[in-house]
Amino acid sequence: MKRLIRCILIGGPGAGKGTQTKRIQQDFNFASISSGDLLRAHMLNNTSLGQQASSYINKGRLVPDKLVLELILTQLNSLKDRNWLLDGFPRNALQASALDTTLEKLKQPLSIAIELQVPDEIILQRVQDRWIHAPSGRTYNYSFNPPKVYGRDDVTGDLLTKRSDDNIETFRERLKDYRENSRPLVEHYGKKGLLVTVRGNSSEEIYPKIYETISSAAEKY
Ligand code: AMP
Repeated sequence: MKRLIRCILIGGPGAGKGTQTKRIQQDFNFASISSGDLLRAHMLNNTSLGQQASSYINKGRLVPDKLVLELILTQLNSLKDRNWLLDGFPRNALQASALDTTLEKLKQPLSIAIELQVPDEIILQRVQDRWIHAPSGRTYNYSFNPPKVYGRDDVTGDLLTKRSDDNIETFRERLKDYRENSRPLVEHYGKKGLLVTVRGNSSEEIYPKIYETISSAAEKY
């Protein structure tokens, strides 16, 4: 790779941000930060942040910006010599401009904003079939990525659980929230000329487009 790539992934609930992040990490040796995973880890460890975040997450609402900004922006300095990817952050226009300011100070310009577009009926099915191993963040899906043993994590054998926000009612809230907040976000990165939108019905269909986007961004300059 000829230059460092710094990238954000924008996508609705169940659009496959986590799955795509793992593939990008493997193929391009990216560091990644997932705001959803970090918030869930805080909830699991019952920290003060986890307790504050859980009431929002369980209702399908966005966690207040102040909490999320502190959680994510403080970590970026340690990634200055790496390719990196932010999964699920920023989630609205305010978070995007806070990220801009921080990256400007750190002299780490963003390279690409990838927007994932997957039809609603497909993501609803995914969310219903999704089970997780909460301590590691490993995700399974009974339709296309089942665990080797029913209900158990492949690595530890621990029981899998449902995310507290993976149910139809919360999903609708999350989708509504996403629709309201993603438009200004997408416009923000569109104006900067950084937006790449990839559409598809499955991760297999979408990933080659992401691979191509990152490969050619790495070749520029
Ligand atoms: P995700 O794993 O990305 O689907 O995120 C799960 C939940 O965590 C979201 O529905 C929000 O409640 C919360 N969350 C994750 N990232 C953010 C963010 N950048 N800003 C606010 N809330 C967030």
